[in-house]
Amino acid sequence: MKKVHFKTFGCRTNQFDTQIMLSNLKNFTIEDDDSTSDIIVINSCTVTNGADSSVRGYISSIKRKNPNAKIILAGCGAHSKGDALFEENAVFGVMGHSEKSNINNLLQKETPFYEIGDLNYVDSSIVENFVGKSRAFIKIQEGCDFDCSYCIIPSVRGRARSHKTETILEQISLLASNGYGEFILTGTNVGSFGKDIDTNLAKLLKKISLIRGVRRIRIGSLEPIQIDDEFKELLDESWMAKHLHIALQHTDDKMLGIMNRRNNFIEDEKLLNFISQKGYAIGTDFIVGHPGESEQIWENALARINALPLTHIHAFTYSKRDATASSVMKDIVKGDIAKVRHAELTNCINEKNRIFRESNHTNLEVLIESTKNKNSYKGYDQFYNLLEVKSKLDLSNSWIIAQNAEVRNDKNFFEYEC
Ligand code: SF4
Repeated sequence: MKKVHFKTFGCRTNQFDTQIMLSNLKNFTIEDDDSTSDIIVINSCTVTNGADSSVRGYISSIKRKNPNAKIILAGCGAHSKGDALFEENAVFGVMGHSEKSNINNLLQKETPFYEIGDLNYVDSSIVENFVGKSRAFIKIQEGCDFDCSYCIIPSVRGRARSHKTETILEQISLLASNGYGEFILTGTNVGSFGKDIDTNLAKLLKKISLIRGVRRIRIGSLEPIQIDDEFKELLDESWMAKHLHIALQHTDDKMLGIMNRRNNFIEDEKLLNFISQKGYAIGTDFIVGHPGESEQIWENALARINALPLTHIHAFTYSKRDATASSVMKDIVKGDIAKVRHAELTNCINEKNRIFRESNHTNLEVLIESTKNKNSYKGYDQFYNLLEVKSKLDLSNSWIIAQNAEVRNDKNFFEYEC
């Protein structure tokens, strides 16, 4: 059987897509080493110009170390750069998002192919097992309707459309019966789930929570305006992970306007304070250095970040993405300034995270992930804080309660005896 290696770039949605491709492969074996594989499937990311360069760099490295391998481009980059890479024979095949369920046939092709498909599809594949993972990612929707000025996603993943509730529940039931207890709901814009099929995220969550074996549900990322009263009523449920990732992207209203965002600071502040009072840790995405971010805007934004009950951050330094509104904006922020702002932001949230952990280090409910290091394990607690665990017992993929974890600078630590 021919050997296939999967190389995944980018976000959780892409990781999930790789699992879908793996679950649809029948006539191939999976190979860890890309230098000895017959076929390399690149599940690419195209979120910035830098992401495109990483994919190109990887293609070049494969051509050097494994020149006979067939390279297949999948993922978001197939939709933005696939035609160019195919034209110049840099890749043997291109397959769009909708072609994942057809991967077994496509990889058997002896002649070059360009199968870009369409951007209105919705996956129906069921993934029964996630190789080597204790937490399962469940994709509940595709695409986004938001049109933020810096983002290319709507044109490479299409408009928002939901997966069928029955398919999602069937998938979770299968995984739960295979031993998975924690489920992470993902998608391009998770909170838009249900808009097109007359339901919503809160209703889906309630149904998932009733499935036997489901112990904890995490939600990948939400937009502030998507958190409605029905969702807020679920915040006290025991199966909700006590961490929400709410994508603010910025805390200065002028900047939010430039970014064409739908949130504003006053509402964001009210929302985050409400959720924090329920005992939640709160993470966010934040872009520093977007065109137009003057010194004054940044100072205002940082003061506001300081005042918000944030505990986790995905901080991004703005990086130009061609074919977006932001890419032609003036008032560019110099790289060294953006770097300083990025550091100020992450230092601020790291400190807030440590303070949060000092008040939340008992009764930590942790799902241990598999490990290669004997006696040393790691996992995340209900607040999505990392716990390092030392134990002589085999704790892989099991749940533990850490009664009184030691709070260290960047993580918590616990010795588990029995
Ligand atoms: S919400 Fe904005 S940043 Fe997120 S995928 Fe949609 S357009 Fe892009």
